[in-house]
Amino acid sequence: MSNCFCGNPTLAEQCCLPLLKGTETASSCERLMRARYTAYALKDESFLLASWHPSTRPPDVPFDPLTQWFELKIIASHGGEPDTAGEVEFIAKFKQQGKAYKMHERSQFIQEQGQWFYLDGAIM
Ligand SMILES: [Zn+2]
Repeated sequence: MSNCFCGNPTLAEQCCLPLLKGTETASSCERLMRARYTAYALKDESFLLASWHPSTRPPDVPFDPLTQWFELKIIASHGGEPDTAGEVEFIAKFKQQGKAYKMHERSQFIQEQGQWFYLDGAIM
């Protein structure tokens, strides 16, 4: 059995993919964060834009064809129902032409009408 892209020991079909397909909504900002990481790994631009808060949403999401996301580590997270704001600190690892890099970010999320949105993030 393989893990989801986000690192959860669960099949992607039972973890992030239902969120990407829109058949499930994220119950916490960590779930949304995991799904967004998976969307980056799969280059799913429509999910990334849909889960981006309209106030900070870019017109498109550029993907670097040489970037391969391969690991997500959640360091800390808070924000789930009934909160309306949350934060996730994570390290995401990626490879470019065989070299590994990591990105350490603290992301802000807000919840509106039961739906979590990514607001912005600060590189640590
Ligand atoms: Zn997942």
